[in-house]
Amino acid sequence: MKLKTQTPTVYPIIVPTSSSLKSFNFYLVKTKQALILVDTGVNVDKCWNYLMNVLEDNGFSLNDIDKIILTHNHNDHIGLVNRIRSHNPIPVYAHRDAMLRLKRDEAFLKKRIAFFQTLYNEMGCGDRGEKQIEKLNKALKKNKSQIIEGEILPLVEGDEIDGFRVIETPGHAPDHIVLLHEDSGLLLAGDHLIQHVSSNALIEPDKQGEKISSLLQYEHSLKKLKDYSLSIAYPGHGEIVKNPLQLIDKRIEGIEKKSEKLNNIVTDQSLTAAEIAKIYYQEKYGSEFSLVMSEIIGHLDRLESYNRVTKEKQDGIFYYYTRETN
Ligand SMILES: [Zn+2]
Repeated sequence: MKLKTQTPTVYPIIVPTSSSLKSFNFYLVKTKQALILVDTGVNVDKCWNYLMNVLEDNGFSLNDIDKIILTHNHNDHIGLVNRIRSHNPIPVYAHRDAMLRLKRDEAFLKKRIAFFQTLYNEMGCGDRGEKQIEKLNKALKKNKSQIIEGEILPLVEGDEIDGFRVIETPGHAPDHIVLLHEDSGLLLAGDHLIQHVSSNALIEPDKQGEKISSLLQYEHSLKKLKDYSLSIAYPGHGEIVKNPLQLIDKRIEGIEKKSEKLNNIVTDQSLTAAEIAKIYYQEKYGSEFSLVMSEIIGHLDRLESYNRVTKEKQDGIFYYYTRETN
């Protein structure tokens, strides 16, 4: 009989924010073998001070941390990596596919911008799409200051790290992973599961610059976790999730409902993704453009994969319509 391993102790670092995310969360995790930091918040003094306080309150110091594991490449999760490593040069682990983004690989980032330019054109976004591309070009320069320095060690599905199993959960980000302590059902969930908001399945290109069907991936990653017995989930934002399996069901249901609503908009009309976005999201199309387009394109990809809608290209722009069913 396999002996159960001791349940790790989690020390949450919860940094409040006035944004709809409620808080930036990262976690010190004490296992039998090591003291791990899972994610690192935003690169601001406030996050740094919260980290210092949680370390001190629990009798640790920065030098006691053995390694950092990143759930995905987003800025609000990788912020303090360089600052921590400048004091204590510990290994950093992330999914194998996070490297290009963590290293701000210029060739890839340029390819990524070209990808969005083509995508927004094809989706009928016109001037609003162009504005977004300008923003991405400006961010490209700023991005250089956010390169994660030093070596990053790659993780993949099924890896075992300090008693945690690495599970690939692409969707919110293509390189998203969660860490599961199987004996206790304790899950470090990153942004895969958030209690108070549904995670955005953000459209991204893959390494080759091809579109990833992020929403389909996200839905698949949600269903995948249903195979595990989960008791508690520690998310990247908001409150700790006491009933992860219930929340997974709710999120899957939410995706299905939204797809239905969008399918009903497309019915009997031939619309661009931008037109559908304006009908569904109204003024948010302007103010939250990239999120809104990710949602719409994600659902259209999903509906296409179920043969519910189809598209036709005219003058370089895709028009979506409902598929005739016999
Ligand atoms: Zn996040």
